[in-house]
Amino acid sequence: MENHYDVIIIGTGAGGGTLAYHLAPSGKRILLLERGGYLPREKDNWESRAVFVESKYRAKETWYHKDGKPFYPGIQYYVGGNTKVYGAALLRFREQDFGEVRHHGGISPAWPLSYEDFEPYYTRAEYLYHVHGQRGADPTEGPASAPYRYPPVSHEPRIQELFDDFRGLGHHPFPLPLGILLDEAEGKVLHTSACVRCAAFDGFPCLVNGKADAQVICVDPALEHTNVELLTGACVERLETDPSGRVVTKIVARRNGSVEEYSADIVVVACGAINSAALLLRSANEKHPAGLANNSDVVGRHYMRHNCSAFMAISKDPNPTVFQKTLALNDFYFRSDDWEYPLGEIQMLGKSDGEMLKGEAPGWAVWKPEFALDFLAEHSIDFWLQSEDLPHPDNRVTITQDGRIVLSIEETNVEGHKRLTAKLKDMLTEIGCHDQLVHRSLYLGKDIPIGGTAHQAGTVRFGRDPKTSALDVNCKAHDLDNLYVVDASFFVSIAAVNPSLTIVANALRVGDHLLERLGSAREL
Ligand SMILES: Cc1cc2nc3c(=O)[nH]c(=O)nc-3n(C[C@H](O)[C@H](O)[C@H](O)COP(=O)(O)OP(=O)(O)OC[C@H]3O[C@@H](n4cnc5c(N)ncnc54)[C@H](O)[C@@H]3O)c2cc1C
Ligand code: SF4
Repeated sequence: MENHYDVIIIGTGAGGGTLAYHLAPSGKRILLLERGGYLPREKDNWESRAVFVESKYRAKETWYHKDGKPFYPGIQYYVGGNTKVYGAALLRFREQDFGEVRHHGGISPAWPLSYEDFEPYYTRAEYLYHVHGQRGADPTEGPASAPYRYPPVSHEPRIQELFDDFRGLGHHPFPLPLGILLDEAEGKVLHTSACVRCAAFDGFPCLVNGKADAQVICVDPALEHTNVELLTGACVERLETDPSGRVVTKIVARRNGSVEEYSADIVVVACGAINSAALLLRSANEKHPAGLANNSDVVGRHYMRHNCSAFMAISKDPNPTVFQKTLALNDFYFRSDDWEYPLGEIQMLGKSDGEMLKGEAPGWAVWKPEFALDFLAEHSIDFWLQSEDLPHPDNRVTITQDGRIVLSIEETNVEGHKRLTAKLKDMLTEIGCHDQLVHRSLYLGKDIPIGGTAHQAGTVRFGRDPKTSALDVNCKAHDLDNLYVVDASFFVSIAAVNPSLTIVANALRVGDHLLERLGSAREL
């Protein structure tokens, strides 16, 4: 019984890592199986060339378009999962996002639970992940039962100016809620701060563990409990069931080139939305011919990723900002003055530099002779535009006979995103945020291609009806008694805010259910 545990969690990202943290004090024997290792701490963590040009920390993996064309997904396999490189913008869904929302491109369906059900978990998630923010600054935010634990991250002068300019136009910019281990006063980093407010926030790993990622915040503290073990380099290949098909009895993993088997009373899959669906599909057996937990035929379907653009506006004045990701704007989240449908959210991105642009430059060959990329970077103000992608049954993850991942995507609901982009351009023009010498067409919008899997969600959706969902409201598979999924797969819709706070909140919620099931319910 050495390889038998009370709980096995597969994957240590936002979902799996948080759940491990929550269950650890129960004293139950818990095993984390993680295909990656620890992300190495080295100077390259903060080197744009290593991170963005050489993609040093990306998984060396090939996935396929539905037409068989290979692509290289933007995915990282480490303890802490994709949160090792995330931008830590940690926002709640809006209250309305839990209900049915009418978009230009169709309906965003209702969740089986409401904002009120999630609210206490959002508060706990914000507390746990050190979210710095300001209640009441964003008119679209829902009610909260507690203030943020930390004040908002301060704006540097150029972003404060942008903030004031947007306010001057009658908009409602607000401080972007960020999960960061930052102590600052009057814009200066204090000696107690883990974060040093450098330029390497968004998309980089943090060399000094200043980012509230799932490894730093959850996995490391969970491992201080002697009842929790972690095996790195353990890639789970399939799950096997008993003859009834109701109970997962075996977890088959490949580790250091050999096959190892584990079992647990409760098995939690948290491999990220694409890999979790692939694992369930690969685990098809006689009782589950379409894949494990897939009597509904929804596993792998309704893949969502946001309609996003990274967008660089070239300001006439240099932008010396170091830590740029401090502002967001939701004034077009539900509608605009000239349109009745949702457009989406505007956020700042981390500051681009010449090296990053060189990495992307081949696609911009037209600009190269005229403008040095370093000049562009010095004058750039960088935005992330995010609109809702709608769940479509044919946007899906499938696997080939030999287990390779295939992603089928048709774009949904693009009009709102186009209009959001136009709104930002108009706002920037109104505040004179472009060089007189540079024509407006120099705004460089960069849509996210199929390999942009950063915000993957929705492939193992939860719901009350086993015919239309794979998981029940506790994220337990309808078709099995001991199988749970706690990563971004459970999403019914993706809203237009970043996904991680909702993944974390849900992991805490499912954790409460599991503690009760294990007979270990406790007050936090
Ligand atoms: C560059 C970038 C920036 C981002 N910025 C933000 C942001 O600002 N705000 C935000 O909310 N979100 C952001 N995200 C998205 C965020 O990182 C993800 O939404 C979140 O990490 C998803 O959590 P998860 O638990 O679903 O999966 P992950 O965090 O991806 O964790 C899955 C884990 O499972 C492991 N795994 C996979 N397959 C197996 C297997 N077969 N066996 C064992 N282990 C396996 C993986 O190695 C990984 O550790 C960003 C992502 C990226 C890439
Ligand atoms: S800004 Fe802070 S959290 Fe981000 S990489 Fe720099 S030190 Fe780390």
